[in-house]
Amino acid sequence: MTEKKWVYLFSEVEEAEKAVGGNWDGVRALLGGKGSGLADMTRAGVPVPPGFTVTTEACNAYLASGGQFPPGMWEEELAALKKVEEITGKRFGYAENPLLVSCRSGAKFSMPGMMDTVLNIGMNDETAAGMVKLTGDERFVFDAYRRLVQMFGEVVLGIPDEAFEVPLEEYKQKKGVKSDTELTAEDWKYLVDLFKKVVREHKGFDFPQDPYEQLRLATEAVFKSWNGKRAVDYRNAAGIPHDLGTAVNIQTMVFGNMGWESGTGVAFTRDPATGEKKMYGDYLLNAQGEDVVAGIRNTEKIENLAKEMPDVYQQFLEICDRLERHYRDMQDVEFTIEKGHLWMLQTRTGKRTAKAAVKMAVDMANEGLITKEEAILRIRPEDVDTLLHPQFDLRAKELARKEGNLYATGVNASPGAAVGRVYFDADTAERMAKEEHQDVIMVRPFTKPDDVHGMLAAKGILTSEGGATSHAAVVARQFGVPCVVGAAMIRIDLENRQMSVDGKVVKEGEWVSVDGTSGEVFLGKIPTIAPTLEEQTDLLTLLKWADEICATPGIRQAPPGWPTTGLQVWANADYPADARRARSYGAVGIGLCRTEHMFFEPERLPIVQRMILAKTSADRKAALDELLPYQRSDFEGLFEAMDGYPVIIRLIDPPLHEFLPSQEELLEDVITMRVKGEVEGLTEREELLRSVRALHESNPMMGLRGIRLSIMMPEIVEMQVRAIFEAAANVTLRGVHAKPEVMIPLTGTVNELNVIQPRLVEIARQVMNEKGVDFPYKFGTMIEIPRAALTAGEIASVAEFFSFGTNDLTQMTYGYSRDDAERNFLLKYVEEGILPKNPFQTIDREGVGRLMKICVEEGRTTRPDLEVGICGEHGGDPESIEFCHVIGQNYVSCSPFRVPVARLSAAHAALKHKGVSILEDK
Ligand code: PEP
Ligand code: MG
Repeated sequence: MTEKKWVYLFSEVEEAEKAVGGNWDGVRALLGGKGSGLADMTRAGVPVPPGFTVTTEACNAYLASGGQFPPGMWEEELAALKKVEEITGKRFGYAENPLLVSCRSGAKFSMPGMMDTVLNIGMNDETAAGMVKLTGDERFVFDAYRRLVQMFGEVVLGIPDEAFEVPLEEYKQKKGVKSDTELTAEDWKYLVDLFKKVVREHKGFDFPQDPYEQLRLATEAVFKSWNGKRAVDYRNAAGIPHDLGTAVNIQTMVFGNMGWESGTGVAFTRDPATGEKKMYGDYLLNAQGEDVVAGIRNTEKIENLAKEMPDVYQQFLEICDRLERHYRDMQDVEFTIEKGHLWMLQTRTGKRTAKAAVKMAVDMANEGLITKEEAILRIRPEDVDTLLHPQFDLRAKELARKEGNLYATGVNASPGAAVGRVYFDADTAERMAKEEHQDVIMVRPFTKPDDVHGMLAAKGILTSEGGATSHAAVVARQFGVPCVVGAAMIRIDLENRQMSVDGKVVKEGEWVSVDGTSGEVFLGKIPTIAPTLEEQTDLLTLLKWADEICATPGIRQAPPGWPTTGLQVWANADYPADARRARSYGAVGIGLCRTEHMFFEPERLPIVQRMILAKTSADRKAALDELLPYQRSDFEGLFEAMDGYPVIIRLIDPPLHEFLPSQEELLEDVITMRVKGEVEGLTEREELLRSVRALHESNPMMGLRGIRLSIMMPEIVEMQVRAIFEAAANVTLRGVHAKPEVMIPLTGTVNELNVIQPRLVEIARQVMNEKGVDFPYKFGTMIEIPRAALTAGEIASVAEFFSFGTNDLTQMTYGYSRDDAERNFLLKYVEEGILPKNPFQTIDREGVGRLMKICVEEGRTTRPDLEVGICGEHGGDPESIEFCHVIGQNYVSCSPFRVPVARLSAAHAALKHKGVSILEDK
């Protein structure tokens, strides 16, 4: 048996790989994220300050033994340190050219700020003197020394932070200086002594002058910090196992403040805001890392380094290029130049805006750095959403900032830009939005479920309390309303209907601009921009690739008749203009046209009402004859817009009372007229009231609607089918390829379809005969009732296609009213974890989804080529789209605005489940 190796030099990555059987995940587990990253960079030929990693196994052994280094570990650490001395030519604990090291934790998964770091280990009175000689910079040396004493005191010896911070602040006050940079060498010298005294007072012993003692204690402190409260809490929250342990990284310190041949900086290998392929970053000569971040001195743009240190800059560019190629992504790097020698301190995949993410993914695929598939998988559906949301014009926002209009900042709870007038309660907010048609920003200290109506009516939401998971934040994100929460500097005076920040008062009705993306609130109106999809050429390219992936035959493995390509994306559109937009966004079909929406147009509603109230069949027929041309021309527009693509038109669905005035309204009218003695029109109103009462149902959503209405009053759907087929025939004669699919809503039993569908098919044939044209068409049904899903085998014997109406299907499966549940209890259910998600947004796979899966399988047993889609709200939700792919649907249909997100999500689903047989996919 070979001895366990506890310590790996950064240059020993191959050995680490061997030790874990060759897989990189194993290396990460052994050396931690940071250690494996440093080793990997070293292997890629990047100049990394030399060092080594003590393994996570050593940490676990230390913790398991109750605080003993495992046998041999310390000796290995000393041997590794010797190697580092050889490589750097510096010596640990020696006054001339001393080696200083940092000691940092690094677990397999990043736990930012949760564990410990000690810098400048190796400093003591002697090495400090040596370094002064070497650098000629006393101030720098004693600042570095006091940092060690302070960090060592806090992290290793457990002395509270204030024990150092308080005397430092007092000293600065005494000297009359504000920032650390104003302190001189003498000041730092004094403070080193002071800090040493703090150690002695708190611990009863002196700050250890022996560098090896410093190293040993720091290593132990990092091991122990794995079980520190902060780290345990973080792991619990992030779901990281507690038995992984942390590695310890010991690395040579390099200094950017050793004169004008030294410097430090941070850079991105491409522009993180735009994605442009151009180095983006800042640096400072003769400075330390934190000087760049703190903004004390004005930094230089990275490209200026080309003039100041051309060789170093050239080397830097080459390294960045190598890092990008190695990691195959944009890198965020930190570097230090110590006396003309370039060192890379860190590289990680850089954060970026949505716009930059898309551009980089497309560019990198075009450069051959990544595949098109990888490019697609790198973009999250939310990124596409962000790109299509209105944002503030950046220049206008900058100007507003310069003009002092930045009013407050808070948590960026829900992205997007909103401009509106402020109102301080939900009722007023809703009233102003709905009745006065104002753009409203609802402002509250915090929100409660009673406020949801105001939040939904608002363009933006602002609260002075609460965080990212507060009610306001959760609701705003759910409904896509831009929102800033917890802007604590705002004082809201509900009584006087105003808010103020430092005496700047905003009264109810005044304008503000809320940036939910950045968390800022501005006074006044800032212009917003919503770039059109056509302008976003990179996004268009990416979506084209997404479509190509979905169109690949065999990407889904499925039984005969089932689709073997990915999902298509269709759109829900009622009018030709919507259909045109949907098509421009990439929809390849209309999955739902809610015909009744056309009945609400002002010139049509009176005809519809006459039709409903008709006493005789002849009267009803006359009204329907008047409606037919309207419907026909709407349908012609739809077929023309979707030339060559299927258009699913749903026959009338809602209960008829929805087209009539409300009972309350009529009753009020009648009573008022009677009291005032008005006779003119009274009889008509009374009659209308009687009719409305006759149509009244206690539970209209489960009442006379959908196919039931068609059976009881077939004339309406007969007119609709005639209009559909006349329209299709007319456009066919004009050379358009019409593909009508007639959809019957709310079927619960095949017997219903048996009654109505043959009558409608007969009309379709009649019209085609009359017009002498032929075109492909289908008759099918919505699956919105659990019984329909469970008897799909029978239903598919008549219906030629299914479309899941998951709004109703969710309502009926859960028994939750789709109109009231969110307001009354559903959001609370989600907040409290009773439901993992809002089932009206994301398909509940276990319940509703199970019905859908059964439905697809049994439907296709009867009719193997049954076309199956979805047209409920879930059709635009990425998680639900994945589910639709998994159960073998042909397409998803969603609102035109969500089509781009759906196209990307469909490609994600196809790639994620590539090669998995549909029937076995769990
Ligand atoms: C549905 O129920 O999912 C559906 C699309 O129909 P509607 O929303 O019109 O009831
Ligand atoms: Mg429905």
